[in-house]
Amino acid sequence: MCEICRRDFVRGAAALGATGLFSSPLMAQAPRSDTPSTRLPARGEFTITNAYVMTMDGALGDIADASVHVKNGEIIAVGKDVGGGERIDGSGMIVMPGLVETHWHMWNTIFRSFAGDKPEDGYFPTVARFGQQMTPDDIFQSTRLAAAEAINSGMTFVHSWCHNVRSRAHAEADIRALTAAGIRARHSCGWPQGLPDTQSADQAPIESLARNWKDWSNEGLLTLGMGWRGQFRAGPIKAEVYQPEFDNARKLGLPITVHVAAAAHRAVNQVELLYKSNLMGKDVQLVHALAVTPAEIDMIKESGASISTSPGSELRIGYGYPPISEWLAKGIPVGISIDTSALTGSSNMFGVLKLARDSENARAENEFKMTARKALELGTIEGARSMGIDDKVGSLTPGKRADLIMISPNALNMAVVTDPAHLVLEATTPENVDTVVVDGRILKRGGKLTAIDTSEVIAGARTALAGIRERTKWR
Ligand SMILES: [Zn+2]
Repeated sequence: MCEICRRDFVRGAAALGATGLFSSPLMAQAPRSDTPSTRLPARGEFTITNAYVMTMDGALGDIADASVHVKNGEIIAVGKDVGGGERIDGSGMIVMPGLVETHWHMWNTIFRSFAGDKPEDGYFPTVARFGQQMTPDDIFQSTRLAAAEAINSGMTFVHSWCHNVRSRAHAEADIRALTAAGIRARHSCGWPQGLPDTQSADQAPIESLARNWKDWSNEGLLTLGMGWRGQFRAGPIKAEVYQPEFDNARKLGLPITVHVAAAAHRAVNQVELLYKSNLMGKDVQLVHALAVTPAEIDMIKESGASISTSPGSELRIGYGYPPISEWLAKGIPVGISIDTSALTGSSNMFGVLKLARDSENARAENEFKMTARKALELGTIEGARSMGIDDKVGSLTPGKRADLIMISPNALNMAVVTDPAHLVLEATTPENVDTVVVDGRILKRGGKLTAIDTSEVIAGARTALAGIRERTKWR
């Protein structure tokens, strides 16, 4: 660890202690299985009753006036006349699986709506410039803000795409924030912002995490992956730079995720190049992949890779429309993602799912191109499939882990329940998400977060951003 990194680490560790989540600097330096998850609510036994249950399970479908029985983090039963444990009245509520988010730079959430209106203030230069000034504690505060927003708005799984790993401590800070929130997540360990495209990313942080992942996994809620730069950033990257990174992920047995073929790079067939370089497979997630030919879509299908698309940021930054229908027609696993609050502002997944449906209909000039239910599937079971976790979550199927949400339409923006799938997709805001359960733990109830001190999270994020402003003389 270099001296600057070490100083950052110590400062970050001290700040973590100050948040109250860790009671001593020692605990901030090493993963401990007994903290901070012990501060999360216990997994008990409860039954949500009298709800309209959208299982998103093809065999079970929707069930009106139904119950969901949960015990020790597992869905025991779904249907009528089932139950046990505490009774939670779901009358008038819609119960569905928690939303599955598939690519999100949570580490830069403190730069929310920061990308400006001129090229020099755009997303990439802004994030590269200020990202290089971030301490581990800045990452912690940013990811914790994102995780709190995720739970509040009904996401139960997030893919923390951490491409600002300036030291091992930076990666650890991201993981600690996810752990503290109690959310299910993948941490994809990347490179530091500002790393020259001529230099391979330091593999020490990811190797160290992979070696001891059990200690970091928060009882299996968290998994590890590699955020890989790929063959292109501003320009092409040489094989001697990218290949060792890719090979190391494979050696460590970690899933790989890579940004590729955003519309701005349409001149080069990036997916074809990846395919011909043997850099795709079932363990590879392609982010965006918007600029693809029909032949390249076939290559993606053949390789077994999945795609994550983020219409909220893709439309905002001008990447164009994601060809979701073309991907789905080939049977490619597709998940929807937030990408970055620096571009999207808020991170309401329901809004992004609606954009996914709307952009499909707009592109096809057809009101009926994508159904509301298909959009909700992309945000639940299909997203889970794209992340390889559909055996655990993504639908309310007995035997799966209990990641679910209760939506209350008892508000001015919902009020009348017509077609549940359309209503949920088109009208739900975070305020309508009454209850959020992750792995059987109730993390939001009655519209309030149960394990997160919202004002502390907001204050921490503001302080972190103020520190970056100070250090960069940004006014
Ligand atoms: Zn991204």
